Amino acid sequence: MEIKTNSPSQTQKVAEKLAKSLKKGDVVALFGDLGAGKTIFVKGLARGLGIKKRILSPSFVFVRSYPIDLKNRKLTFHHIDLYRGKDFKDFESLGLNEIFSNDSIVALEWADRIKDYLPEKRIDVTIKAIDDKIRKITIKRS
Ligand code: ADP
Ligand code: MG
Repeated sequence: MEIKTNSPSQTQKVAEKLAKSLKKGDVVALFGDLGAGKTIFVKGLARGLGIKKRILSPSFVFVRSYPIDLKNRKLTFHHIDLYRGKDFKDFESLGLNEIFSNDSIVALEWADRIKDYLPEKRIDVTIKAIDDKIRKITIKRS
């Protein structure tokens, strides 16, 4: 699926809609340059999952986790941002196996940095800035 948005709130709405289709164990891998709108998209996902807390960029901690209720099940939403991840030692210390567990939903910014370690079954979201307002968002389930 491919869609164009022309504001951050439109991008968040696209993400909110996607969030409604997410199931436990899903991994949303976000691709796109700095400033493309990955964090904006994650904020939309979080809203769609019913998270009321403000989503801050994980930056130094790589991952921030939020409790969610999905169909009356208590799960965890993990927001990972690998922007500052330089080598695989960083990623190992993330405890990815635990994070990609069945009891969570994961949104992963800069997913290309651990391409070889991503689960095969995932939802790829690629965001491309066309100009200062327009974003092309491609969503592909594999
Ligand atoms: P990333 O996480 O990919 O580095 P951010 O989500 O932090 O990017 O930032 C995206 C920036 O682009 C924000 O400043 C936002 O206001 C701006 N922006 C402009 N138009 C859009 C749009 N259509 N969708 C998402 N963000 C947009
Ligand atoms: Mg970001």
